[in-house]
Amino acid sequence: MNPIRQIAFGYSTKCNIRCGHCVASDDSIPHGKMTLEKAMAIIEQMVRCNVTGISFTAGEPLIFFEDMIRLVKLCHEKEIYSRVVTNCFWAKTSEHADETVSALTRSGLSQFRLSFSRWHQEHIRRENVVNAANSCQKHGLDYFISFVTDFSRQDDSLEQFLRDNHLKFFPEPVIYLGRAQGFDPRRILTDYHPNTCNMNPYLSPELDMFACCDGGDQFKETDFFLLGNLRDYGIDELFKRKENKVLFHLIRTMGLTSIASYLGLKANEIVQYRKCELCEKLFNSTENLNTLEKAATSDLLNWKR
Ligand code: SF4
Ligand code: SF4
Repeated sequence: MNPIRQIAFGYSTKCNIRCGHCVASDDSIPHGKMTLEKAMAIIEQMVRCNVTGISFTAGEPLIFFEDMIRLVKLCHEKEIYSRVVTNCFWAKTSEHADETVSALTRSGLSQFRLSFSRWHQEHIRRENVVNAANSCQKHGLDYFISFVTDFSRQDDSLEQFLRDNHLKFFPEPVIYLGRAQGFDPRRILTDYHPNTCNMNPYLSPELDMFACCDGGDQFKETDFFLLGNLRDYGIDELFKRKENKVLFHLIRTMGLTSIASYLGLKANEIVQYRKCELCEKLFNSTENLNTLEKAATSDLLNWKR
């Protein structure tokens, strides 16, 4: 059976705003863009490697609107599920929103993911997100709002705004990497849950492929998630590296909490970490990674009830 293959496609890391919490387009990342021809050729290769879903993300994809129309059309022709992640800069009025949404719907876009947070909304009016969501409903385009939050009381009014406008939204924890690395993470004690992670891979404009789309290029001490560059390896080979690496398999199935416990972290310390923070603690340290790599196919693999 073929594994399910989906990917976050970083056509470009350029963005038209500068959110204070951004992981994807922060200053340590080169703000590159692949050519349209290259992107189309890669999607054709992905079809042959059984990729079934592509999420266009990284910077703001719709600053390259005509290119996105071409790429979404290609996905539609090849029966690939397509999603565009956007900050809604283009939805200043309901008429502007309709223009963009109808063009993408006609091109075969499967879903819009609309970003919303107190950091995005320093640059984009919150009404833009309402215009975009309403336009999706009008045109029958699936959408949801990704409400990035640190769960502080400051975000209550933003959440209430989404509820008052009857919008479909899902809270998503801010990731304390990239520009948010300097934030003081609020300690939230969670239950002792497993912290498994789906690990969607990410392709950068420079053609580096990473096993994770959120922390992918951020674990700089170990480059734990780097799978290789498409100039040197085929897409199938890079997907196989992700699928066959035992530690990635353990993150997906066993979860980070058990891995941390195996490594010796105390239970009352583990419950103070958010998922990606715990992941960084475990895998962005050469010492920890060496220990876990050695144990991955023996003791750690058998570390179960
Ligand atoms: S819109 Fe997205 S890519 Fe652009 S700065 Fe904000 S978080 Fe980063
Ligand atoms: S927990 Fe690790 S693998 Fe999962 S999204 Fe966070 S950094 Fe990536």
